[in-house]
Amino acid sequence: MGKVYLVGAGPGDPELLTVKAARILESADVVLHDALVTQEILSLVSPKAQMIDVGKRCGHKLLTQDEINAYLIHTAALANVVVRLKGGDPLIFGRAGEEIQALRSAGVDFEIVPGVTAALAAAAAARVSLTDRRLASQVLFTTAHRKGGAMSLDWTRAITPDTTVVVYMPGVAYADLGKALLSSGLDPQTPCVIVACAAQKSQQMYRADLAGLGRLSGISAPALLIVGRVALSEAESIGSDVWQLAQAAAMQDEQQIT
Ligand code: SAH
Repeated sequence: MGKVYLVGAGPGDPELLTVKAARILESADVVLHDALVTQEILSLVSPKAQMIDVGKRCGHKLLTQDEINAYLIHTAALANVVVRLKGGDPLIFGRAGEEIQALRSAGVDFEIVPGVTAALAAAAAARVSLTDRRLASQVLFTTAHRKGGAMSLDWTRAITPDTTVVVYMPGVAYADLGKALLSSGLDPQTPCVIVACAAQKSQQMYRADLAGLGRLSGISAPALLIVGRVALSEAESIGSDVWQLAQAAAMQDEQQIT
């Protein structure tokens, strides 16, 4: 009986793969990977391994989640090292919960190897500190993914001015997303940054404020949206009104504490 490894491939740059993930890929017998995993990472897989692409193409799945679960269980009975390779971190919007449950109920041994999730790669690319004791005390990882046609945006209720919001799978409807974020009471001037293909050669960055988010278009996937007072561009970050206001608010808070 083999073991299944749920491995995070990170955002794309092979240098951002963990040493452990690279070692497991080298010794893999079977690798089931998502469409998001880059060719550069796949080239690190042992040449003797059987490779299976289980990714989605334009919303059309090559294998259903149930088929993937069944395949993992079946292969673990035949091979030693079975790798389920996912973009970013396996535990963030990666359906790992369903796979963990299936492996547990089938009594298959498994291990999870974390990866650099897209939010962290995008924040690093944009040089944005997701938390900042002056500006943001919490981070919300959420998604605007549409299920059954409607955008599920209940999470806007959880947003406060000192929340950094990271939206995975933002889709193309940035205007709708902007409206929903504004309806949560955020300032229309709240800075936003979109990073497409973070940590890949084709990386691109776009900036807007919340009010202007809808004007952005033609952004290629995968892309990720960061919204919050921390998302200032470097040019803005010195002497901007937002900083001055935030610093004044922080000073007031400190004065109240002392
Ligand atoms: N498990 C992954 C997320 C899977 S959901 C992780 O931890 O990163 C897929 C979404 O992740 C994409 O729609 C996009 O929003 C984001 N994403 C993944 N890789 C990305 C990258 N290199 N650059 C920007 N966004 C990325």
